[in-house]
Amino acid sequence: MAMNPIRGGCLCGCVKFEVKPEFFAFKYCFCSRCRKRSGTVHAANLFTREENFRWIAGQDNVAQYTEPETGKIRNSFCGTCGSRLPRVTPRGAVIPAGSLDDDPGMQPQHCIYWDSRATWLPLPTDLPKLPEAAPAP
Ligand SMILES: [Zn+2]
Ligand SMILES: [Zn+2]
Repeated sequence: MAMNPIRGGCLCGCVKFEVKPEFFAFKYCFCSRCRKRSGTVHAANLFTREENFRWIAGQDNVAQYTEPETGKIRNSFCGTCGSRLPRVTPRGAVIPAGSLDDDPGMQPQHCIYWDSRATWLPLPTDLPKLPEAAPAP
């Protein structure tokens, strides 16, 4: 059965993409590299084959950071608003789950690189939940 693509994009809306939700993995990554590029406690990445992915708007505005030593693409983001975007190579596509507009139809399976986690955890699941912003101090 062919799956309908789901959509995603950046905060300012200039970059849009679609992806067939045929994901083979969904991981929370706690490595130091993901902490730097996301600016937060962990990455939430979905993995799929390259042919399942397609840019539909703003591809010219997708900026990439390529690590000089390895030549590997280490970050992909909107050149205007800085939102994280998928990293797409012939080896596969890594989709930041937060960049999706639609439900990926899959739950995270693992926390990887747990031994590299930030010292300032706890996880959000362990903190009190407020419906909106916290009251001013
Ligand atoms: Zn943007
Ligand atoms: Zn990582």
